[in-house]
Amino acid sequence: METKQFKAESKRLLEMMIHSIYTHKEIFLRELISNASDAIDKLYFRSLTDDKVGLSKEDFVIRISADKDNRTLKITDNGIGMTEEELENNLGTIANSGSLKFKSENKLDDDSQIIGQFGVGFYSAFMVAKKVTVVSKAYGSDKAYMWESEGVDGYTITEADKDSAGTEITLELLEDTEDENYSEFLDQYRIRSLVKKYSDYIRFPVKMEMTHSRPKPVPEGEKADENAAPEYEDYIEDETLNSMVPLWKKNKNELKEEDYKHFYAEKFFDYNEPLKYAHVKNEGTANYNALLYIPSKAPFDFYSKEYEKGLQLYSNGVLIMDKCADLLPDYFSFVKGLVDSEDLSLNISREMLQHDRQLKVIAKSIEKTISNELKKMLKNEREKYEEFWKAFGLQLKYGIYSDYGMNKEKLQDLLMFTSSNEKKLVTLDEYVTGMREEQKFIYYATGETAEKIEMLPQTELVKDNGFEILYLTDNIDEFAIKTLRSYKDKEFKSVSADDLGLESSEKQEEIKAKEEENSGLLKTLADALSDKVSKVILSHRLKSHPVCLTSEGEISLEMEKVLNAMPTDQKIKAQRVLELNPEHEIFAKLKAIDSAGDKDKLGKYAQLLYNQALLIEGMSIENPVEFSNLICELM
Ligand code: ADP
Repeated sequence: METKQFKAESKRLLEMMIHSIYTHKEIFLRELISNASDAIDKLYFRSLTDDKVGLSKEDFVIRISADKDNRTLKITDNGIGMTEEELENNLGTIANSGSLKFKSENKLDDDSQIIGQFGVGFYSAFMVAKKVTVVSKAYGSDKAYMWESEGVDGYTITEADKDSAGTEITLELLEDTEDENYSEFLDQYRIRSLVKKYSDYIRFPVKMEMTHSRPKPVPEGEKADENAAPEYEDYIEDETLNSMVPLWKKNKNELKEEDYKHFYAEKFFDYNEPLKYAHVKNEGTANYNALLYIPSKAPFDFYSKEYEKGLQLYSNGVLIMDKCADLLPDYFSFVKGLVDSEDLSLNISREMLQHDRQLKVIAKSIEKTISNELKKMLKNEREKYEEFWKAFGLQLKYGIYSDYGMNKEKLQDLLMFTSSNEKKLVTLDEYVTGMREEQKFIYYATGETAEKIEMLPQTELVKDNGFEILYLTDNIDEFAIKTLRSYKDKEFKSVSADDLGLESSEKQEEIKAKEEENSGLLKTLADALSDKVSKVILSHRLKSHPVCLTSEGEISLEMEKVLNAMPTDQKIKAQRVLELNPEHEIFAKLKAIDSAGDKDKLGKYAQLLYNQALLIEGMSIENPVEFSNLICELM
């Protein structure tokens, strides 16, 4: 008999299972029952259109039996079964290699996080068993096969006997140790409570023969001896352990917070508790039950192309799609959950589903629910909302920007930005409500971090006026703000914009006069920097700094950085403006050099000031060596 080797990745996952110190080893039962239920689902689905299956809904069953003497636990189903090839492919290779990838990328030593976060499936049996035997017969096949393995050394597949389609999994449990009690998984009450805890909603009965005890009935005609100790006898009862009612079909008042959280963890493999959940029962234009969850942390692949959004879709209790993307708009792609509707036909194909009118109605209603839940959270549970914002705010900002701003009205009230006031998060509504009477604009500044923005010379004037500034630190922020343009009739204004609406007309006149007075000097400087800036002007916003760099036109310096980081050949350049502080002593110095007619020296000063402005902006200077040489020369 040939011993086959596991695929390398599977072997690693298997090793992880075998050596796991995961405290919830009990989940192996949930995994096996869930597989059995999936297998039955497949055959049941088939039976709806294929009479040859010969089974009706009531015939399907998952059976558990424990044998204390042999230390074995059996899980049997009469589902679709596996062919020899499927045994080889499904159990020899693990499908869910995402978990391993995650482990290696994140250098996790703690297996429990992975086991908790992903469905580890069939291999979890090796957390509690030294040997696993799977006997399976695929529906429609006349041969059965047995897959056996004692762990990493490999597995064998041989022919076996089995009457009907389905799968029987036998676990030979590990010996108990000081720390681990595996025998508990042979205890009928323990098994029953595990099924209740993890698999209660499974739609097919999970049955077990339970041994109970009862007082022996007194034989007819005899009188009970009142003084004798009562006699007991064992009897066996076939019990269905699960209630089979899916959680979402239960009444809300029957359910506790724990039930929802449990369900979430096991269904969506999220180790962290959800931030929020909603149990929706909708009637009217759309009839559906839904369970919606907002995770507390973004999944590791959330902001990557690999992430697949979607809700599970059921038609009257039967799963028809695992991730129905059409039920969620992109900006709410973080929501997990399921929808069960009577309005959808079971036999609908995926292609048809996309165009299904009823599905669109449901999707709209779900979107509204999510939006309302978020608004409620923002209003009543501020801390939670900020946690949500940190995990998924970026996605909402993408939502503002994408589709040409089509959804901005729906999303703008959910936005938050860091404020210059104590660097707290504020909503746009809070900002506008706190605006001073004389304040015309919503001011914002961009940069890598709030700390860096705080030091930008461009923020000085706005702050001196006592106005709040929104600090935009994500790449997408300024694009989102530009899409919004205004909020509650207040226009957004960058602190580097030309017209901040803060200068008195006298001040502006004064600057203008000074610019005319020094036009020769400004021209010389601009000529020296002609390949770098479009203008050199006198600034009205600078207080203590000698220079700063701003831009004119639609593209800001920050946007230039973002756009140029994208993988295209076309490089975009903001139109840069070098602003000089006319009150600064450096400017007096420039004037002196100009009067002395030393154009060459003035050119060098221009380079120096430009580079200095770049550094303040947090941008790199084009030629650091030249810059350094210049400093030495002029010092
Ligand atoms: P997952 O269930 O996440 O796909 P598992 O490791 O639990 O991963 O199972 C691997 C595959 O083995 C399943 O996708 C399924 O095709 C098959 N399988 C497992 N258990 C059964 C079963 N009881 N009946 C039929 N097929 C099964």
